[in-house]
Amino acid sequence: MPPPATRTLHFPHAAPPAFGDTIEVAPGVLWTRLPLPFRLDHVNVYLIEDDGGFAVLDTGVDTADSRAVWERLIAGVLRGRAPTKIVVTHFHPDHIGLAGWLCRRFGVPLYASQTTYLSSINISIRPDALEGEHYRDFYLRHGLAPEIAALVATQGHSYLRLVSALEPTFRRIVTGDTLTIGGRKFRLLSGDGHAPEQIMLVSDADNLFFAADQVLAKITPNVSVWAVEPYGDPLGLYLRSLRALKEQVAADALVLPGHQLVFAGLHTRIDELIAHHELRCRLILRACAAQPHSAAEMVPVLFPKALDPHQMSFAFSETQAHINYLIRCGTLFAVVGGDGIERVTVPG
Ligand SMILES: [Zn+2]
Ligand SMILES: [Zn+2]
Repeated sequence: MPPPATRTLHFPHAAPPAFGDTIEVAPGVLWTRLPLPFRLDHVNVYLIEDDGGFAVLDTGVDTADSRAVWERLIAGVLRGRAPTKIVVTHFHPDHIGLAGWLCRRFGVPLYASQTTYLSSINISIRPDALEGEHYRDFYLRHGLAPEIAALVATQGHSYLRLVSALEPTFRRIVTGDTLTIGGRKFRLLSGDGHAPEQIMLVSDADNLFFAADQVLAKITPNVSVWAVEPYGDPLGLYLRSLRALKEQVAADALVLPGHQLVFAGLHTRIDELIAHHELRCRLILRACAAQPHSAAEMVPVLFPKALDPHQMSFAFSETQAHINYLIRCGTLFAVVGGDGIERVTVPG
């Protein structure tokens, strides 16, 4: 057992910076925030001192509010020290949304994993792939009522409205590589589960860990199965990534995440996240031991509160992630009933 002091998270800054204000979290590393039009109402952006300016890590969504905050940053802290490169951790709109706009405005390159870049480009080529018939079929097969499936299937796929077009070229960053920003060398890691090939940065010299959305202090990063890959195992990949991070990043590193507060206590938080998912798996196995459940029937077991269609979409997809993981582990198996709905049950 670790000593008690390491079993709680430590927050060096009790409050975050206001939108467009900055806090220097380490020498030459500025933390700022941009607004999001969601219940999670902000995203963290980091400015890392570089030769001739600042490297920008993540960008916020492409909304008028977000651009206005960038204008304040450009006229304020960035005055005379323009962005030198735009580094994006993953393809979600809150992180990549203004990358294209910033790259064009300052004539600087985008650094991203290949999966991040191509995922975003792919949605721009085939936006209907996120709203098609196969989505509705996926929800129906896993037991959602048709009227809910119709609502859920057309909810929230507003990706392109929140993302400015990317430039036709980018610079690929890969796990195991080193990225030099100013005088610092960053080890690049990638993690899966929340988003494919999400990039994280480690500065060993300064004991900093830019965690993106892989590890957040108070909320559990979303881990979901989507219709595009109905038999995917993002939870298995996520748990594998969390365990690897304990080997790859020091327990006392300062964690600079994509949302919420900067904190220390990485290994403790990883243990909490693993325990959270293990508990959900136990709840599923207990329910299935009593009787077979579809993913939709399992949602209230994991999410007892009433859910609006948007929340239902995420709750359903998270539940599916746990089910697919348990199927992959061999502790659940799926049977399609006469009603065409797939239900899972325990072997034996
Ligand atoms: Zn994300
Ligand atoms: Zn995010």
